[in-house]
Amino acid sequence: MRLRTWEYDLTLKHPFTISRGSVSTKTVIITEIEHDGVTGLGEAAPISRYGETAATVRDFLQNLDLSAFPDPFAVEEIMASLGRTGEGNTAARASIDLALHDWIGKTLGIPLYRYWGLDRAKTPVSSFTIGIDEPEVIEAKVREAEAYPVLKVKLGTERDEEILRAIRRCTEKPLRVDANEGWTTREEALRKIQWLETEGVEFVEQPMPAADLAGTAWVRKRVKLPIVADENSIRAHDVPDLREAFDGVNLKLMKSTGLREGLQLIHTARSCGMSVMIGCMIETSLGITAAAHLSPLADWADLDGSALTSNDPFDGVVFDRGRLILPDRPGIGVVKKQG
Ligand code: MG
Repeated sequence: MRLRTWEYDLTLKHPFTISRGSVSTKTVIITEIEHDGVTGLGEAAPISRYGETAATVRDFLQNLDLSAFPDPFAVEEIMASLGRTGEGNTAARASIDLALHDWIGKTLGIPLYRYWGLDRAKTPVSSFTIGIDEPEVIEAKVREAEAYPVLKVKLGTERDEEILRAIRRCTEKPLRVDANEGWTTREEALRKIQWLETEGVEFVEQPMPAADLAGTAWVRKRVKLPIVADENSIRAHDVPDLREAFDGVNLKLMKSTGLREGLQLIHTARSCGMSVMIGCMIETSLGITAAAHLSPLADWADLDGSALTSNDPFDGVVFDRGRLILPDRPGIGVVKKQG
C-alpha cells in the first residue's frame, strides 16, 4: 500500500462565522492509497476545536507507516493500529479510513452505500447553513439558498434575535438552529430555546458548552424541541453518556475517525434510542460524498460543506432541491474536476 497526500485550500463563498470565530479559507489534506493498481481517495478537514490543524494532519500522515499492512481490506486492523497513538488526530485518521473504503468499493466495483446494504432512494434532504453575519448579508444568503427547503442557522451570539428576524423577513422555511456552545448559562439556553419553539424551528444543536452536560440535561427537561449533540459527540463511545442531555447526535466523519466508526456511532445512538444527524465541516465533495453514503441511516443531514465553497476540486454527491443524490460510481464515487 502506497500513501500519497496533497493539500488544498478551499475558498469560502462568504466568510463563515459561528459563535467561536470566522474563517474565509480552509486547508484540507487529500490522501491517496494505491494498491494493486487501484487508488482510494480520502480527505482530512481538521477541526481546531479538537486541537487539529493542517500541520498536525501533515505530521501524523508523514509519520504513518502502512507497510506493515499488505491488504487494504483489513480496515478494522489498520484503523485500530492508528488509534494506538492516542485519542486525537481524528480527521487525519478519517482520511485513511475514507481512502481504504474508497479503495475497497472501487476494487469490488460497487458504491459504498451498496457495500453497506443501504438504499440510495432513502437519502434525506440536507439543510443549508446560514453563518452569523450582518442582517443584509444574511438576507442575501437566504436568497442564495433558495434551492434548499431547510436552513440551518448559526446562533449563540448577543444578536440572536436580530439574526432570526432577518431570516424570517425572507423565508417561512423550517429552520434548524446551531448555537455551537454559545449559550453559557442554563437560564439563557432555556429562554432562547423556548423562544425558538415559537419560530418554526425543528431542533437545536449544542446549546451549551460541552463541559456542562448537567446544565444541558436541566434545559432539555424544560423544553419541547429536540436537543442534538455535536461538540459533545465526538466518538462512538461518547454516545451512551449523552442520553440524559440530548435527543440526538450529530455524526461527523472528521470527529469519528471516518466511516467505520461513523457506522458504529450510528448504531450506538440507535441502541440508546437517540436520533441521528449527519453533518460535516468545510470540506470538499470527497468528504461530503463519503458521509452522504451513510445518510440513508440518518434522520437529518447537514452536508453543505462543499456547497459553501467556490473551488471544490471534486464532483460527487449533488443536491436536488436539497435532497442528496448519490453518485453510482464505485467506492465514494467522486472524480476530480477537469481543468
Ligand atoms: Mg454543530
